[in-house]
Amino acid sequence: MFELVIKNGMVVDALNKLFSPCCIGISGGKIAAISIEDIRGEQVIDAAGMVVSPGFIDIHMHEDPLREKNGMKEIEENIFNSMALMGVTTCVGGNCGMGMPDLEGYLTAIDNFGLPVNFATFLPYTTLREKIGGTNNYLANTSDENEKLKELLRAGMAAGAVGLSFGLEYIPGCPTNELIEMAKVVGEFPGRLVAAHYRSDAGGGIESIKELSYISWVADVPMQISHIGSCTAFGMMRKGLETVDQARKLGIDIMADCYPYAAFCTYIGSAVFDEGCFARWGTDYSSIEPAEGKYKGSPCSRETFEYLRVREPNTLVVAHVLNKDEVLEALAHPLVMVGSDGLLNGRKGHPRASGAFPRVFAHYVRELKGLSLMEAILKMTLMPAQRLGLKTKGQLTLGNDADISIFDPDKIVDKATYTDPVAPPEGIAYVLVNGKMVVADGQLTGVKPGKTLRF
Ligand SMILES: [Zn+2]
Repeated sequence: MFELVIKNGMVVDALNKLFSPCCIGISGGKIAAISIEDIRGEQVIDAAGMVVSPGFIDIHMHEDPLREKNGMKEIEENIFNSMALMGVTTCVGGNCGMGMPDLEGYLTAIDNFGLPVNFATFLPYTTLREKIGGTNNYLANTSDENEKLKELLRAGMAAGAVGLSFGLEYIPGCPTNELIEMAKVVGEFPGRLVAAHYRSDAGGGIESIKELSYISWVADVPMQISHIGSCTAFGMMRKGLETVDQARKLGIDIMADCYPYAAFCTYIGSAVFDEGCFARWGTDYSSIEPAEGKYKGSPCSRETFEYLRVREPNTLVVAHVLNKDEVLEALAHPLVMVGSDGLLNGRKGHPRASGAFPRVFAHYVRELKGLSLMEAILKMTLMPAQRLGLKTKGQLTLGNDADISIFDPDKIVDKATYTDPVAPPEGIAYVLVNGKMVVADGQLTGVKPGKTLRF
């Protein structure tokens, strides 16, 4: 008798790339049985007509901040709930160089309060730079500053970070040598990763991918290119992917993630929107849509763009500047996995935070037929698990963590939009994290069995 049994579904066998009609028994948070014979459970999920998949792993998202409220530290769960509702069971924050300055404090807060999903984090490099007083993103560090950063980095890696994240487009003054020095410190911790939001996009995208390959090669660390869609889906995706392929052929461990939208999202005050950006993208102010504040939802004019950039630089804006065909080209590439890049400011932001994973199925698998169902699943499960070194996740095998997403492959669909970025998807019936139901009948249950992952 198992605590929970899932019956009648098509179970994903990720290693053999097959769907198999079997039952799964769960006890103690682990997969305790996989059987073609009927098995009995205290609780039973009837998954008839549904896919029983390893829980999705989001290798690239941005966590909800830790806030002080009435003297207590608390995490207001916005994106973490969105993650669970879209079938993500493990997510990785601290990306693009931005994140929590105190890794240990953040992970301990999660351990105390709990989350619906498992959580791991990169050490965010821009945040570390700010922590030692380096607030000018247009300047290189002094060697003293670099030494201080390496100490912080070693401490953070020892405290369990999955790796280091760079947000090079946000710190234009940071020279390649500084990045190599830091990446070498990551290399002192085997299995850890460097994730990098490239230095420039569009016309600068190919050179940026080459720079990341070079850092990876010199420092001898695995390199994860963040959201490659918004780097080269401007007419140079084929060349971008070829550049990644060529680096792999030279033995460089480089891969990428991508979110399934033709628009990116970030803070309007950031260096991304410095002089020359519209010329690079071949667009104008009207391609920028504020995701919050008094101009929310309407295209920018020169006046509103400049006003927000100077007066309200922390406004999240959506930039409709990517070619959607090239986003699909990236997603279909064998070295590219799905990552949401979800970022919510409260409940405002880009719909990818609540829609990225279901959208891959609805839009790129069913509608455009650019990926098979199995390919899409692997890019959300086994592939990121292997990339992160999560040995007990990403596939439904005996003894593995019971992180499971159960969805209808004909009905799964994203509902989040630019006007309602937190609308939950449809077609995802159950989500289990460590054997406990965090989503049942498409609704959050309020249970918080998520664990922090320390590497
Ligand atoms: Zn980024």
